[in-house]
Amino acid sequence: MNTIKNPTPPGTVATAFAAVQQQVQAATRARLTQGAAPTIVGASKTQGPQVLAAAIAAGLTHFGENKVQEAQGKWPALKEAHPHTVLHLIGGLQSNKAVEAVALFDVIETIDREKIADAVANEMAKQSRDVKLLIQVNTGEEPQKGGVAPRDLPALIAHYRKNKLPGLCGLMCVPPFDINPAPHFALLQKLAAEYELPWLSMGMSSDYQIAIRFGATHVRIGTALFGERSI
Ligand SMILES: *Cc1c(COP(=O)(O)O)cnc(C)c1O
Repeated sequence: MNTIKNPTPPGTVATAFAAVQQQVQAATRARLTQGAAPTIVGASKTQGPQVLAAAIAAGLTHFGENKVQEAQGKWPALKEAHPHTVLHLIGGLQSNKAVEAVALFDVIETIDREKIADAVANEMAKQSRDVKLLIQVNTGEEPQKGGVAPRDLPALIAHYRKNKLPGLCGLMCVPPFDINPAPHFALLQKLAAEYELPWLSMGMSSDYQIAIRFGATHVRIGTALFGERSI
């Protein structure tokens, strides 16, 4: 497992979680449209079992991991001890990992092509697993980043609907680093409304208040909960 630069002492996670919850509530009250506060998904890549257990004890229930293999190393035991936790895959998925991903994750946020859509659907049927799925949209059209280009999204959604593939709930995006994310959140909100998809996973530590303004239903928070990572 990778080491972290400033590991958060377990006690600090509870304080950080309370602060983030307050900010989320305030941003939700400030937005124009009604609706429940978004779910806080703790982006827990590189965090060890002790910190994760402290976060669970503090009341965090949703966690996001980037790598199937890393999650397999730490989550089966945590899930057994805390069956109410909900695990999201927020990093890219290869179709040869669909078996493991469907077995372990409750939400897969990074569907971005038909091959992955089909592999995940097949495994959901085989394993009788009800996994919630989000399509990752590469709103900044960055070549190094996962996600379907906005112009290719209609075909991927049509693939789901034509073949009656189960589980599709919403859209997710990771805007380009260091730019104003608002236009990206606005675009994702517009696309989700257009296709009547209820879930919108957007916003990270630096910009979740903005994402909430644009209707985020899930915010993925790492640094603000767990401290800085070295990678
Ligand atoms: C790490 C990560 C986050 C959280 O990032 P922070 O800036 O640390 O809050 C959110 N989404 C994805 C996809 C990530 O990989």
